[in-house]
Order: sequence, then C-alpha cells, then structure tokens
Amino acid sequence: MNFNLNSLVRENIKKMTPYSSARHEFSGSASIFLDANENSFGSPLPDNFNRYPDPLQLPVKEKLSKIKGVPVQNIFLGNGSDEAIDLFYRIFCAPGRDNAMIFPPTYGMYEVCAEMNDVKVNKVNLTKDFQLNIDAIETAIDPFTKLIFICSPNNPTGNSINRADVEIILNNFEGIVIIDEAYINYSKQKSFIPELTEYPNLIVMQTLSKAWGLAGLRLGMAFASRPIIELMNKVKYPYNINSATQLLALEALDNIEWVNEHIATTVTEREKLRNELLSLAATEVVYPSDANFLLVKIKAARRIYEELCDKGIIVRDRSKVVLCDDSLRITIGTPEENKQLIKELSKYKSN
Ligand SMILES: *Cc1c(COP(=O)(O)O)cnc(C)c1O
Repeated sequence: MNFNLNSLVRENIKKMTPYSSARHEFSGSASIFLDANENSFGSPLPDNFNRYPDPLQLPVKEKLSKIKGVPVQNIFLGNGSDEAIDLFYRIFCAPGRDNAMIFPPTYGMYEVCAEMNDVKVNKVNLTKDFQLNIDAIETAIDPFTKLIFICSPNNPTGNSINRADVEIILNNFEGIVIIDEAYINYSKQKSFIPELTEYPNLIVMQTLSKAWGLAGLRLGMAFASRPIIELMNKVKYPYNINSATQLLALEALDNIEWVNEHIATTVTEREKLRNELLSLAATEVVYPSDANFLLVKIKAARRIYEELCDKGIIVRDRSKVVLCDDSLRITIGTPEENKQLIKELSKYKSN
C-alpha cells in the first residue's frame, strides 16, 4: 500500500495558518496573566473558570495516555466523538468532490456530518449477518474516496466487525480508515489501538459517553499518528474542551474500578435480557451484541414501541432503517429498569 498523508489533505487546510491563542504563545509558569483579556478579578465560581482552558488538554491526555497505553502526542480530544467526525471531513474531503464510505446500517452522524460538509456518502450495506461486504467495497472505492468509517461494535446492530476484514481494508485502502470503538469496553474483541504503530492510515475513536457514563460531559477521543493528530489540532476550535469538562474528566478518570464494575453488570444484564426477549412469542431474532444494547427483530415492532412509550419506557425504533425492519434497539438498563421492561413485554409471551 502506498499511503501518502499529505496528498489526502485539502489544499486550504495545508495552506491555512492556525489561530494562535494567548495560551499557545505563552505556556511557561507565570503569576500575572494580562495577555488574554480575561477577568482578572475571578468569577462567581470557584476554581480557575475566569481563565481560558488548556487548548491541548494536557493533564487529561496524560491520564488517558496511562489508561490507553498511547503517547500524549497521539491523542486528540473533542467535544464528543462528533467533533472528531466533523474534523475528518473538513481536513480530508473537498466539498462537492470527495466521498466517504460508510456501511449501513450504522451510526447516523457519519452521514449527517458528510451532508453538512457537502461530501458525498458512498454507501455499501453490510451483509445479512451485519459484516463487511468486501467485494462490493472494493468495487465502490473510487479515486475520490478519502475516508472509510467502520463502527465496531456497530450501532445499531451490536455486533463486532470481523477483524480479518478490517485488516484487508487497512492493508489496501490508501485513504483514512476510521474505526469507531464507542462500545469497545462491552466487547470481547480487542481494540485496534495497538495497531496504530502498524498502520499510518488508521484512526481509532473512543468516547467517555458510554462505559464511562459521561455522555453529558461531551468528551470524545481519537487516537492516530502524530501527523494526523497535528492536523486535527490545527483545524479544531482553539478552546474546544471547556474547563468544567477537563476538570471533571480528570476526576472521573481516577475511577476506572467503577467503570469495570458496571461493564460487568451491563454484560450480565444484557445476557439476561436477551433470554427474556427470546421467550416472547413475537420475538423473531435477538441479534448477538458486543455492546450495551440489543437489537431485537419482533413482530409489530412499531406497535410494541408505542405501547412501551405509553408506559413511560422509551426504546429506539429502528424499523425504518435498512436491514433492520421490525427491529427495536434496546439499551441495557439497571436490573430494576430491565425488570420493568420485561414485565411490560411479558404480556406478549407465548404461554
Ligand atoms: C454513542 C456513540 C458515539 C459517541 O458519541 P459522543 O459524541 O462521543 O457522545 C460515537 N459513535 C457511536 C457509534 C456511538 O453509538
């Protein structure tokens, strides 16, 4: 494979001068900061909220570096994974010309961000067992295909994508391969993070929104080669991660035992819920899941969805999504929440 990062980057991005913030130009230690027009008297809040936040979030990255085994220089932090997804388009895809490949049914933001950036989406549906259709992918890649998004474990199907197929793409595609591992903590599959040293075209995305329980904090991670991370830092807004998020992330990252404990509980509950769902007369398939949700093919999915809503239980109706007809996506709740869900669903039981 002949990978040339520079040839993939948009001309305007190569040429632009990034914003140089006050905190960029001086990062040593000092006691009087009169360089950023901040409020020198403080703020109504404790801590240093009168100050602009660290543009590169180094203390947070240092903690993540230890947890993930990735050097600080190979980590990007975004306002959710969604910021990283948007940046990939802005760095690599010329509007009206380039395209990004996605494998439906998959996470909706890949397509939303493409449309927002006037980038064509090159869709190759997953196979019936929700795996990559390698032959069709090979045919559909064209000289303007810059990005390939692989979501594994995949949302909304829950399964992991076969590693050998991902490796075929990594070894043969000369553009950027993004592996979205938002649900990796719930999976028995290994992360692709250790492969970063092997593949210059690889970006791995993870998030604090799922297993870390911090969807409200908005902190997404991207791991990649240094040159790719440098491009992301060049294009992002200077203060993309606010001080409150950085402060709370630092605190949360000391609690990995909490995370591991709840991953175990979620996986146990997932298998319990799976068996309960299988005992319903209406259930056709409960797809295998490596994530914190189950995709269920069930007769009269829409009606069941609405009747659950009436009881105050909201699941995700995916029945209009390609390859997901009559399917509901159900997040694993607490044992008590799952019990209530099952109680409501038990009226659909066969005997
Ligand atoms: C939930 C989810 C994310 C997380 O997005 P954030 O912006 O980090 O909250 C990313 N990718 C997939 C596939 C998801 O399902």
